[in-house]
Amino acid sequence: MSTLLIKNGHVIDPANGIDAPHDVYVEDGKIKEVAKSIDRDADEVIDAAGLVVTPGLIDMQVHFREPGREDKETIETGSLAALSGGVTSVVVMPNTTPAADNQSVVGYVVKKAQELDLINVYPTGAITVAQKGNQLAEINDLKNAGAIAITDDGVDVQDEGILRRAMEYAKTLDVLVMSHCETDALTDGGVMHEGWVSTQLGLPGTPAISEDLAVHKNIMLAKLTGARLHLLHNSTSGAVKAIAEAKKEGFQNITAEVSVQHFALSDEACLGYNTNAKMYPPLRSKDHIKAVIEAIKHDVIDAFTTDHAPHTDAEKQEPFEDAAFGSTGLETSFAVMNTYLVEPQHISLSKGIEKMTIGPAKILRIEKGTLSKGADADIAIFDMKNKWVFNSHKHTYSKGKNCIFNGLKLTGKCVKTIVGGVVKYKEVE
Ligand SMILES: [Zn+2]
Repeated sequence: MSTLLIKNGHVIDPANGIDAPHDVYVEDGKIKEVAKSIDRDADEVIDAAGLVVTPGLIDMQVHFREPGREDKETIETGSLAALSGGVTSVVVMPNTTPAADNQSVVGYVVKKAQELDLINVYPTGAITVAQKGNQLAEINDLKNAGAIAITDDGVDVQDEGILRRAMEYAKTLDVLVMSHCETDALTDGGVMHEGWVSTQLGLPGTPAISEDLAVHKNIMLAKLTGARLHLLHNSTSGAVKAIAEAKKEGFQNITAEVSVQHFALSDEACLGYNTNAKMYPPLRSKDHIKAVIEAIKHDVIDAFTTDHAPHTDAEKQEPFEDAAFGSTGLETSFAVMNTYLVEPQHISLSKGIEKMTIGPAKILRIEKGTLSKGADADIAIFDMKNKWVFNSHKHTYSKGKNCIFNGLKLTGKCVKTIVGGVVKYKEVE
């Protein structure tokens, strides 16, 4: 029997309504007790005085690039990056090389993650063969191989007939559908948000309506089919308005997330042709950010993610139009949430942690994101007083150095991460 005791920390466990000084006792990888004061002997005792103790974070949208592009990231380096940010569970997107449109790729990810034994990695399967949007993948096979959801993230299914059939199968098989909402005919070569800044820079823009229209399409098909639909990385006022309406109408099968960069930074980050600010969907203008934050405040949004998208330096050193889309984020997501939502008092710290723990756990239907008795002892410990500057070229774990939060001052840093009762990460100064 192995035991671990975390003493004197401030526990925030939104699933159980705890936001108070508590001790946490772990036995054989499971939470045994959470109480005001626990006096038990343990193999290992962690003094968490002055620190915040939370369930391990869950990020339901990351890109680990393996198999195929191990030069950008591997399941191992991605997992280490996650651990350093307090993230103990991730959902990996299927746009690997080859795409996860078959059992062998999904099975490979499952096996590799088990061998590494670092964090919990949940693979997704593609909706369509090679994510080309014209032929459904074998959804049942993907589910049986271990896919937690199906998604064509990175490209989006344009054909409404195929999307409808995918949702019908998903409904029958009880599989979650995750949609990246984009209307290709409107995005049409856009490399950043269409607006004043894109005009200043002379760059082709992606209009907000490209996302709005696709969100409406997805919501209408989810209402029709009854499929469980999760809307990935929402970034526009139109998208969050449509989600709010669907929720108000009582459609509990529809859930939504925001990637932390989309409430933190605006399209002005692209000024100077900063390719780390190039992402998909793009960083939006301030009016959209305001609407997204209002939606977060009103619980229209269920989860926060990173859309962690590592690339090689060469792919980001291209001219803005040609550079790859995406930013890394696993090492900074908690601090970004705290710095851009909690510090300006948009939401409480507990609410922010909810969106990164029990919120995504409920959508994914996994027994994670809580410190309930008997739950897996996945725990993160944060120093909320630590003001730090992220530098992806120093002290980082992801192979991708393309982080939009590079050089920005953040508050709150992970000091320890525990997975299944084992300390897997300790902060290095
Ligand atoms: Zn996407």
